[in-house]
Amino acid sequence: MNKECENLALYFYGEMEPQQAAAFKQHLQHCKHCQQEISFMQQMQAALVPPAAPQALTERVLVQARPAHRWSWVFKPALALVLLLGIGGFFWRMGPSVSALSDTNDDFMAYISAEADEEYNNFVMDFEAFEEEF
Ligand SMILES: [Zn+2]
Repeated sequence: MNKECENLALYFYGEMEPQQAAAFKQHLQHCKHCQQEISFMQQMQAALVPPAAPQALTERVLVQARPAHRWSWVFKPALALVLLLGIGGFFWRMGPSVSALSDTNDDFMAYISAEADEEYNNFVMDFEAFEEEF
């Protein structure tokens, strides 16, 4: 390795003046270190930039993606059911406790914020447990 080897990156990324690049090319022909380094950098670059998908594959994927109707008859009722269960569950959970409260807004708000605090605390605890795991 000599002083010229330091310019390897400039050469590799095409940042050299043409004259300088020509000189480095000559150096490259007999410098094992730079040859290895260049080949490593080329491999890294190839690994980082995913090759474009072949045209035939792109077309096949697009054709298969187009008939979106095939599954929607399953998903739409399923989605509706999930929504109904979610809304129903919400009212089922809220219903008895809300009616047990007095009519004043303050109690209701206190109840709601207590619920929210609990949810938040549970979330924070879950998150901390999650953080400890990783
Ligand atoms: Zn070199």
